[in-house]
Amino acid sequence: MRILVALGGNALLRRGQRPDAEAQRDNVLAAAASLAKLAVRHELIVTHGNGPQVGVLALESAHDPELSRPYPLDTIGAETQGMIGYWLLQALQNALPGRQVAALVNQTLVSAVDPAFDDPAKFVGQGYEKEEAEKLAARYGWTVKQDGDRWRRVVPSPVPQRVVETRLIRRLVRDGVLTICAGGGGIPVIRNEVGLLQGIEAVVDKDLTAALLAEALEADVFMSLTDVPGVARNFGTPRQEEIARTTPHELRAEHFPAGSMGPKVEAVARFVETTGDMAAIGRLEDAARILEGTAGTIVTPGGTWPPDGMP
Ligand code: ADP
Ligand code: MG
Repeated sequence: MRILVALGGNALLRRGQRPDAEAQRDNVLAAAASLAKLAVRHELIVTHGNGPQVGVLALESAHDPELSRPYPLDTIGAETQGMIGYWLLQALQNALPGRQVAALVNQTLVSAVDPAFDDPAKFVGQGYEKEEAEKLAARYGWTVKQDGDRWRRVVPSPVPQRVVETRLIRRLVRDGVLTICAGGGGIPVIRNEVGLLQGIEAVVDKDLTAALLAEALEADVFMSLTDVPGVARNFGTPRQEEIARTTPHELRAEHFPAGSMGPKVEAVARFVETTGDMAAIGRLEDAARILEGTAGTIVTPGGTWPPDGMP
């Protein structure tokens, strides 16, 4: 089978963990061990989140006295693809001797007239006191909004339309290359007035890009791997119950939070609706068990898995 896996940013940097390189590399080693189990039997494409890492690099850039202005978000997105891509590349090469592995820096096309540009809504970076946030907003041309009792920068999160390097990725996958790509949802770019690719200050949702890429590559399975065992009904209440099997239709009847489970559910529902194939949400460590049907929340058109005759 051809499997596309999206790794949560939180699986690479656990909540509350300091963002030191060593801690992240330990987590990447654990991720690679789990992915290697899939890769020995299947074609594998790996995408990953970058939320926490973008926050760290953006802050460093904002505080660098040598710079006249901080590096733009598209450039920081590329930095995280290089950094996380390198960690995953090496860990997967070590876990799978003899296997060809590639990590790409690559872009995701969005529409220059996406309504998200008129309503930046995705929080990035740290929280500030209101006055400090307004000062930074004036200095760097940021939009800031209230997040709880702090003020944070918000950026547009336009809908991904196409992974620019889709054809290249397809070739690599066909050649048996384990390909790491579309990190952080891909570096957001638009086509400008003269038809040229141009980076923009935005953040693309990694799960939505992953679903789009899985569809374009004709993956049989799309998995979004994170730090919870699956999707739960009544999450965080005493009546919480895990969903083992479901359909896009059933999932869409429920409400999930916009900043976390919402986009994941949207991404898996969309993949299953458009392809009729299987998508799942679950824990990174459970990747192989999810495929067997013994862990995670599995989404198929009919709400059943595994199909008859699957080994
Ligand atoms: P990632 O970095 O993997 O994308 P997110 O934080 O975006 O992680 O999404 C996973 C988180 O979603 C979980 O850690 C959990 O706290 C939260 N969550 C919100 N609603 C639900 C739900 N109904 N079922 C399971 N997890 C949920
Ligand atoms: Mg997320």
